[in-house]
Amino acid sequence: MNISLILKPAIELIAVFLLAFGIKGLSKVRSAREANRLAAIAMSLAVVGVLVNSIANGGIRLDAWLWILIGSFVGGLLGIFTAQRVPMTAMPETVALFNGCGGMSSLLVALGVALFRGENLSELSGVEIVKLISIVVSVFVGSITFTGSIVAMAKLQGWLSTPPWTQSKVRHAVNIAFSIICLIAILEFLLGGNNGLWLLIIGSGLLGVGVTLPIGGADMPVVISLLNSYSGVAAAAAGFVVKSQLLIVAGAMVGAAGLILTQVMCKGMNRSLISVLFGGALGASSNVSSTNGKAEYTNITSCSVEECALTLEAAERVVIVPGYGLAVAQAQHTLREVAKVLENSGIEVAYAIHPVAGRMPGHMNVLLAEADVPYEQLKEMEIINPEFPATDVVLILGANDVVNPQAKTDSTSPLYGMPVLDVQEARTVFVVKRGMSAGYSGIKNDLFDLPNTSMLFGDAKKVLGDLLVELKELGIGGRG
Ligand code: NDP
Repeated sequence: MNISLILKPAIELIAVFLLAFGIKGLSKVRSAREANRLAAIAMSLAVVGVLVNSIANGGIRLDAWLWILIGSFVGGLLGIFTAQRVPMTAMPETVALFNGCGGMSSLLVALGVALFRGENLSELSGVEIVKLISIVVSVFVGSITFTGSIVAMAKLQGWLSTPPWTQSKVRHAVNIAFSIICLIAILEFLLGGNNGLWLLIIGSGLLGVGVTLPIGGADMPVVISLLNSYSGVAAAAAGFVVKSQLLIVAGAMVGAAGLILTQVMCKGMNRSLISVLFGGALGASSNVSSTNGKAEYTNITSCSVEECALTLEAAERVVIVPGYGLAVAQAQHTLREVAKVLENSGIEVAYAIHPVAGRMPGHMNVLLAEADVPYEQLKEMEIINPEFPATDVVLILGANDVVNPQAKTDSTSPLYGMPVLDVQEARTVFVVKRGMSAGYSGIKNDLFDLPNTSMLFGDAKKVLGDLLVELKELGIGGRG
């Protein structure tokens, strides 16, 4: 009996389990690193499974093995290089690029199989029909994912802006035309012509550009999450094409996870998926007011680092609100030092985590985990909001939109309805930012005008460094 016949499904099964546990573990900050490793092992096992499978299908084919190993080596090297080089603030662009690669891989797998198909449509069995449909889905969704992700990445990087014509109704007509081209191409392919497949790649690629180009910067991470889901669908379809259960399961899990994440992000930003997809360029680029949120303030109080340190010294409970600016300043390690000093002097410290603080879901969790902030101190919005009235000091670090009370009080505000942190309920609020620039939404923040708010101007890392020195000079941290 050929041992590789048993070995291959066994390896695939183990890989499926490891992947499932990996994805489950990613839902908790504490287990995320380990979970990531499990998922990476699962993917490496998948490659081993393919090698073993090739033995079952006719012995060791050195040429095929060589290609697989070269591909894995080059891909692995690129992965390590990217993971080490990319800053946290550029993570959405990186995810977009990876999604695009996933879509392209599925497309190429399906294309390779399709180009070498020998069947006649009149003799097709049920299994072959499933295979043909899977090829169509894989190529169609894979191509949309690839071009859509590249456009999303280019827009986030600032390489591509939203052309004015994509804001008019013309874009709907253009996208309908691309969809019709895809439909014709699918029919042509199903009737036996590989030319249809090339047309489908072009048509769906253009459709990917057409639907992503009009979407504005603020909505782009939602789109990236949706494209992530699409890349899963394309991979699952490719799994049917090459009869790989592992690929089907992995693709389905990525597809479902991407969809759930999309929904969570829409909820966190108070946007509906329909308005993201068909609303055009909303968000950052179009919302920024001509005053850039600067001129409308009437009651700004600014303070010095010394004043902030003195207030912190007298506090019993401090809540830190991290935001995008903290990530930009890379101030997480200095923040951890400040928090340690406060804790050493018996002050209770917690971190309020808003679901869309930063530029991607979980951005703040990852940032704070980097600085070894204890997981127990990270409190989600629903948990921490009722605790603000019993908080002495809130220290906001480079966060803006996620603490804007307008979201609850002003029905005309673009943020209205977005769940926010109720920081104004605390006794004293310090806002650390460089100036009076607006946040991502581009609008004024009513919090800055409130009497219990003081602005502490400066780069988050510099201010926290000065605060650390000041707290130590006050003798805080030595007691407790
Ligand atoms: P914001 O973008 O609202 O505000 C960030 C603030 O940081 C700015 O006001 C800026 O002010 C300040 N800042 C920038 N650099 C520094 C620095 N070096 N030191 C100190 N401060 C700095 O961030 P939030 O985290 O509050 O909100 C996130 C926004 O992003 C929300 O609008 C959300 O909807 C959006 N978004 C989030 C997604 C996610 O998944 N997390 C996805 C898509 C959008 P100044 O220039 O004056 O310093």
